[in-house]
Amino acid sequence: MRTSPRDYWRLLAQYLIPQRGRVSLLALLLLASTGLQLASPLVLRRFIDRALEGDALRTLMLIAGLYIGFAILIQIVRLAETWTAQYVGWTATNNLRADLALHVLGLDMGFHNRHTPGNLIERVDGDVFTLGNFFSRFIINILGNVLLTAGVVVLLFRIDWRIGAVVALFAATTIAALAILGRYNTIRFAAARQAMADLIGFLEERIGGTEDIRSSGATDYVMRRNDEFARAYHRRQKVASIFGGATTFSVSQLLSVLGMVAALAVAATLYRDGSITLGTVFVVFQFTQILVQPIEEISRQLRDFQLASASIGRVRQLQAVKPKVTEGAGLPLPPGPLAVELDHVTFGYVPEDPTLRDVTIHLAPQRVLGLVGRTGSGKSTLTRMLVRFYDPDRGSVRLGGIDLRDVRMTDLRDRVAFVTQEIQLFRATVRDNLTLFDPAIPDQRIIDALRRLGLGGWLNALEDGLDTMLAAGGGGVSSGEAQLIALTRVFLRDPDLVILDEASSRLDPITEARLERAIDTLLDGRTAIVIAHRLATSERADEVLVMANGEIAEHGEREALARDPNSLFAGMIRTGHDLATTGEERP
Ligand code: ADP
Repeated sequence: MRTSPRDYWRLLAQYLIPQRGRVSLLALLLLASTGLQLASPLVLRRFIDRALEGDALRTLMLIAGLYIGFAILIQIVRLAETWTAQYVGWTATNNLRADLALHVLGLDMGFHNRHTPGNLIERVDGDVFTLGNFFSRFIINILGNVLLTAGVVVLLFRIDWRIGAVVALFAATTIAALAILGRYNTIRFAAARQAMADLIGFLEERIGGTEDIRSSGATDYVMRRNDEFARAYHRRQKVASIFGGATTFSVSQLLSVLGMVAALAVAATLYRDGSITLGTVFVVFQFTQILVQPIEEISRQLRDFQLASASIGRVRQLQAVKPKVTEGAGLPLPPGPLAVELDHVTFGYVPEDPTLRDVTIHLAPQRVLGLVGRTGSGKSTLTRMLVRFYDPDRGSVRLGGIDLRDVRMTDLRDRVAFVTQEIQLFRATVRDNLTLFDPAIPDQRIIDALRRLGLGGWLNALEDGLDTMLAAGGGGVSSGEAQLIALTRVFLRDPDLVILDEASSRLDPITEARLERAIDTLLDGRTAIVIAHRLATSERADEVLVMANGEIAEHGEREALARDPNSLFAGMIRTGHDLATTGEERP
């Protein structure tokens, strides 16, 4: 997506208009500091000329005091200006960051499957960070510095057109040279940033997989790859800083010396002719010196702007992604346990290759359906349709008779609980992990819930009870405990439909017994769909559905299927295979 000037203005307007008071203050401060910078050499000229004329010491002291006063004032104004600019920039970028984060959270799972968390973080944070300067300073700085440069040139023209002309030429040459250098530098800096993103992406993924890497002995390989990424980053960064920092600095220094020499040569000639005073020569000297800074600043802003436009492009692109799953009109779901209906549902992660084919299921309220079938047969996909991670390509999904596309997302999430095998634990207390940071849930309710689920003993065994801290990512928590936490979470929410992907990992008998009891209590009086890996789990199902290649291979009352020696389900029980993982016996 190309960024048009309208994109820049729209972004600036959206995040700066709410701060117009501060932005006006910033503009004012900038004007003040430009004015002060232009005025102070004129004070110096007065001092020198008066001194040469042999004025009284008192007058000279006064002028000197004024000069020092100006210098101090300039610093104060600059300080205020920097502070305001930072404030404006951070407020704008923080708001943009929050808007983008909210937007990304609202996007469908299809989008999230295509983008890694690292990549999204880089876009929500990295790109927005580059825009801080664009929001706070870009326009004001460009304007301010152009104003300062123009002011100096005009003042010099007024002293003598020849000096003005020399300095104007110098200014134009320097800006052009720095702009050309800047273009190359932007490319190099972008390459360095990409190399850094690669390194961070690599580290993120590998640190996430530390356990697997260690256990498979791949540490050496990972470290070697890490070295390669780090070296690439180092090389690019070195090139970027040599070309970016050093050359820009030398070129601007060289040109400023040349410009100053030329301006002074002209001024000296004019002084010898007697057309200007020595004070004026000093003014020329000072002005040419002052000029270096705005010129560098202008070229730096232009360079930053190139970086910013790339980021703005990516931000706009992200904003333009519309969620495939859109908010429903808000039809209410009926109260109480929910009936589940899938009506000729066909769905594919890629439309050409459907993962679910013409699936039709009716499940009455309070019934428990056990889903079994090989890995990859589409069980998880089916459950994802019920929480609207995806919408069907054809057919419809209804809860309590209402099409999910007509239900508000928050209503749906209130009524349906989804426990996957990947349980997210946070580095927080057990309490926060159970309530998901909802302080409105009183401790007594949590304790009651744990007791009802048969977890009173587990709670008592915790070192600090509900205040026990869990490590990040659930470190120190066994997979059985993680599931107990997940079940309690769901129980606290009191949902009307529970979808449970039972853990396939082997548990110790005590935890397993606890888990079984907890699941029984949780499912009591609710509609449930359970992806069953173990025979024991499937036994609590009223009905069993066998999936094969995205289609229903068999669906019926569990007891009837178990009794029928010709049923697929009976076959699975006989071979004793894990009901939901790869089995030799293809259902
Ligand atoms: P099961 O739960 O029975 O193991 P899944 O529903 O997870 O089966 O997978 C069914 C098919 O869909 C598999 O071929 C799997 O590779 C594919 N699949 C699952 N999740 C995704 C996804 N997020 N994106 C693309 N394909 C997927």
